[in-house]
Amino acid sequence: MTSQVLLVVNRPSLTAPAHSPTAAPFTVVDCDAAQLSVLDLGATRGDGIFESISVSAGHPQALDAHLQRFARSAAMLELPQPDVAVWREAILAAIAGLVPPQSGESWVKTVMTRGVEGDNRPTGWVYATHSPDFTAARTDGLSVVTLDRGYRHDVAQTSPWLLAGAKTLSYAVNRAAVREAVRRGADDVIFVSSDGIVLEGPTSTVVMRHGNTLLTPATDLGILAGTTQATVFDWAALKGFSTEYGSFSVADLEAADALWLVSSVRLAAPIRELDGKTVTIDAEFTTRINAELGAQSS
Ligand code: PLP
Repeated sequence: MTSQVLLVVNRPSLTAPAHSPTAAPFTVVDCDAAQLSVLDLGATRGDGIFESISVSAGHPQALDAHLQRFARSAAMLELPQPDVAVWREAILAAIAGLVPPQSGESWVKTVMTRGVEGDNRPTGWVYATHSPDFTAARTDGLSVVTLDRGYRHDVAQTSPWLLAGAKTLSYAVNRAAVREAVRRGADDVIFVSSDGIVLEGPTSTVVMRHGNTLLTPATDLGILAGTTQATVFDWAALKGFSTEYGSFSVADLEAADALWLVSSVRLAAPIRELDGKTVTIDAEFTTRINAELGAQSS
């Protein structure tokens, strides 16, 4: 059984005027009815931020980390600071509205845009629905190609206006990269900086295992700080693995014992092929990671 829940957040930020000062902070609305102005800057310019949050058996995963990143993205875009308490409550209300509420895997998307041009009020909504079946990606793995992102590894420091590392609504480039992967006969992408440093997937974080160490690109490389990768690293450290953030080349990926793309909703997807070369899947470790990710309820 599927269901969808949509909440419009009337008071997305304490620092910006509410859409209707007397209305509740958020309201359940009809998913099938139009809610967004054609003049909304989120729609016309991709000028806004979002989060996608896994929900396992009714519990949002890494909710605090997602809310903190939502606020960080807002700050990077100079949007009004989200009222985190309102967003948290709206997320929980959206999940509670799913039918059946506690079943299997679902996900929630939060969006805050700059609103209608000149209106000075951000637009916000929360959408929840049941997840598609990711069994194939999680068990058979992904064929991945590396693609040049066209920016140097230090773009976040040299050109902060490019918003590298913010979770903005402008994902047309990320979608185009996946289409390029499909044209090349692959499923997904690992972006590499123009100076050869491994970055991230278009919707995921790269994790590799070399022996007893899990490694991932450092977040000062102009990439998104992944909540899933952070959860995996916390768990792995408790299990006696070393964890490392750093600068890695494609040769480091090729030398790894196992590779994953990890993200909310799809969770840990092992890589079975990188640029046409076979990569060994660590099925047992993948199952353990995904069991842990599904069990988190912070
Ligand atoms: N990097 C990018 C560009 C993403 O879009 C995402 C997720 O959407 C991630 C990394 C992984 O982040 P998370 O694990 O918090 O979902």
